[in-house]
Amino acid sequence: MKTLGTIKGLLLDLDGVLYVGANVIEGAIDAVNKIRESGISCRFITNTSTLSLASLEQKINVLGFSISANEIISAPQAALLYLKNQSAPVCRLLLADDVKKDFIDFPQSDSKANYIVIGDIGKAWSYPLFNEVFSCLMQGAKLIAIHKNRFWQTEEGLQMDIGGFIEGLEYASSSKALIIGKPSANFYQIALDDMRLKPEEVAIIGDDIDVDVGGGQQVGLMGILVKTGKYRQLYTDSSSIKPDLILDSIKDLPELLLQQSL
Ligand SMILES: [Mg+2]
Repeated sequence: MKTLGTIKGLLLDLDGVLYVGANVIEGAIDAVNKIRESGISCRFITNTSTLSLASLEQKINVLGFSISANEIISAPQAALLYLKNQSAPVCRLLLADDVKKDFIDFPQSDSKANYIVIGDIGKAWSYPLFNEVFSCLMQGAKLIAIHKNRFWQTEEGLQMDIGGFIEGLEYASSSKALIIGKPSANFYQIALDDMRLKPEEVAIIGDDIDVDVGGGQQVGLMGILVKTGKYRQLYTDSSSIKPDLILDSIKDLPELLLQQSL
């Protein structure tokens, strides 16, 4: 089991740890401030793929946090950091319009792209679109999926997510997509590189035992589970994933950090 004593960096999951919808988790704002004061460097992470960095920053800060854009790593942002490390990327972006704004510095092409980035584009999927992407893939373009979720819950019930479309493109082109969002090891590596820290120096705090705790532990991070957001005791008890630490809420973390550093 890892301990907090050696931790220099913290990845904080947003939804379910700092807030649920428009409601801030009690004590979360104060906790984040105290964690910063203890000298731990923070990155705020989320798989949200429909908001640009500016929109996400605004959403968080309207709730009362003071978090700067360069501390936020959303799944699209991780894709952006990945692309910045590639030589001469030319992109085809299948992303929400708001998210596309973040990728404006990259040259783009519909037919000559060497990176196809796919996120949530709602009802924009069509056979001609699939075929254009397929054509780029057959010419050697790399497929980058913001995530590969099967479905999601909406007010109208379950809806098909992009995972099936990604799988279809992989099948047709005999290629494998690079999955960017949590729990992919790529996501955590991108966050570690951004913090310039080693896995053993970093903890993740999240409300999802699989995606946050399990995903983080798989790359060597300390995994902290909070009992807020989507946490359910029954699910946690029956899981094969064992968090290094379980807290009622993020508000308990600053006190523990203080004790460990004494
Ligand atoms: Mg969460």
